[in-house]
Amino acid sequence: MRKIEQKAAWAAAQSPLFACPVCHEPMQVAATSLVCPQAHRFDLAKKGTVNFLNAPVKTEYTAEMLSARRRVLEAGLFRPFVAQIAAQLTGRERLLDVGCGEGTPTATLAQTGASTVGFDISAPAINLAGTLATPAFFCVADLARLPFLAAQFDVLVDLFSPGAYSEFKRVLRPGGRLFKVIPASGYLRELRQGLYAGTAKATYSNAAVKSRFLQAFPEATVTPISYDFAVAAEQFEDLVTMTPLSWQAPVAKRQALLDNPPTSIHVDVELLQMTLS
Ligand SMILES: [Zn+2]
Repeated sequence: MRKIEQKAAWAAAQSPLFACPVCHEPMQVAATSLVCPQAHRFDLAKKGTVNFLNAPVKTEYTAEMLSARRRVLEAGLFRPFVAQIAAQLTGRERLLDVGCGEGTPTATLAQTGASTVGFDISAPAINLAGTLATPAFFCVADLARLPFLAAQFDVLVDLFSPGAYSEFKRVLRPGGRLFKVIPASGYLRELRQGLYAGTAKATYSNAAVKSRFLQAFPEATVTPISYDFAVAAEQFEDLVTMTPLSWQAPVAKRQALLDNPPTSIHVDVELLQMTLS
């Protein structure tokens, strides 16, 4: 079976899951399209992905940045904290990966057996996600208007993406769990210090993001996770390319760092998690 047919069959088996982004009615699968009762129609692409946006949204992610990100994530930069989330799943859940990017962590989560959907606002990111050999289903969608019916997901995972917490609460079922990973002050510190030493960008605090999350979910727990990830010299350039942190850095600083790369990079994050009552 071709990928487009596999993914359409998967979506049909999950139905009703998707809500029309135009009229919010439940959508059904017809051949390789999702169609609502008012005949709004969204076709699957060859790779089995679907775009729910009316108009493309331009993001800062280029194909080059996304490919660099794919290589670094495949090498395992995020593996320890993604594994920590995966270890808490039974594999029987339906899971949504919010802002899934090029999809490598989504594929890892899908390996648990969870029925997994990843979405991102970037069409180039979802195109790249569509090349992965994974049972996960990928779509282009808007965080603030999720194309899913209410109370459909057992687990939401949000790795470094902005939160739309009222939408999160709407699509999560009662008793569902939310895992959100945010960078902490030491995240990619070799990069931050190399690019921004002596400026206000040399330090980072997640206090505002964390307090907004804890206001929405006061019962959440916070688990710090940190480790050093060994980086080969040729991989370091990918690391610099993949992160928004380096996009506005002075060219000379960026070059100096590439000429003298660190041998490891510090990963310092916090895992925020809660169960919806
Ligand atoms: Zn519709």
